Amino acid sequence: MPQHDTLHFTDRGLYCPAGDFHIDPWRPVPRALITHGHADHARFGHGSYLATDIAAPVLRHRLGDIAVDTVRYGTSLTVGGARVSFHPAGHVPGSAQIRVEVAGQVWVVSGDYKLENDSLSTPFEPVRCHAFISECTFGLPVFRWRPQAEIAAQIAGWWRDCAAQGRTAVLGAYSLGKAQRLLSLLDPAQGPILCHSSIEDTTDVLRAQGLALPPTIRATADTGAKSHPGALVMTPPSAMAGTWLKRYGPVSTAFASGWMALRGVRRRRGADREFVISDHADWDGLNRAVAATGAERVFATHGYTDVFARWLASSGIDARPVQTEFGTADADAAETPEPAQAQADPSADGSGTAAPGGAGRIAARD
Ligand SMILES: [Zn+2]
Ligand SMILES: [Zn+2]
Repeated sequence: MPQHDTLHFTDRGLYCPAGDFHIDPWRPVPRALITHGHADHARFGHGSYLATDIAAPVLRHRLGDIAVDTVRYGTSLTVGGARVSFHPAGHVPGSAQIRVEVAGQVWVVSGDYKLENDSLSTPFEPVRCHAFISECTFGLPVFRWRPQAEIAAQIAGWWRDCAAQGRTAVLGAYSLGKAQRLLSLLDPAQGPILCHSSIEDTTDVLRAQGLALPPTIRATADTGAKSHPGALVMTPPSAMAGTWLKRYGPVSTAFASGWMALRGVRRRRGADREFVISDHADWDGLNRAVAATGAERVFATHGYTDVFARWLASSGIDARPVQTEFGTADADAAETPEPAQAQADPSADGSGTAAPGGAGRIAARD
């Protein structure tokens, strides 16, 4: 990569020489700019952190005693020889794309993003740039999301059916972002909503920031189907098989994830129901986002990087995949799509499964 590039890909992460800072680094660095609080983007051990004012409370909650400076969306800062600003990514509350300008060259790091307005996160705003570093977690045409109102209706119907059959509805969702988005789609008049403590803790942090979330009850040793008949229990996927759920039996289990679009993942999960909803852009969203930047260079990170970069290159964009350590840290929601069962060909409608980056295993954190 030429030395005059605004950002460099290093073994610690994305680095801006002019500003002497890293963005979402995966090894300890003196100064880190952080797009959002998910574990593969916000790691412990940096000298200082800079994030949006909305993202900072969750960062402190997850990383403890760290030095965090905050900035509001759209406010321009000078960091060394670089101009820096954060812009809404629509992924989780406070999530940002980071714009870096050096000597008239504008680069944007997307972090994770989605285009649909979930009414909790500040909606995604495209940022014009020369070079766009884009995630592509769901960079295959098979991934096309339905509007979230449709998914909300599906979940409400499933919960109603569970209650009618005397079953507790147990919904698996990642603790930061997805869980709160799903909560905001639930009608508390339908029944009590209980949350595993890891979800309840994060929800409390976001609630304290003024986000509108329905009332929830912390799942404890004293709660169960007897005390809360007709309940919906939200749990991180990792706790789905725990013995703690015995108190809620009989249960009906469901997962809410973009990966539920893949047959292989659905089968392996073995839940009674699945809901296809993600906090990452789908295939159309990725393509619309890239087009809206006007970028002539695109670097594809975590996900189906090879496929997405090849697809963009075929339409005349200077696009290439980049190896990063994003998308590998969140054991919480780890999925393992099977190795390629079908061509990862964007020109096909993609009804099969292919592993991103040609690897057989990925970790998902949507
Ligand atoms: Zn994320
Ligand atoms: Zn990510």
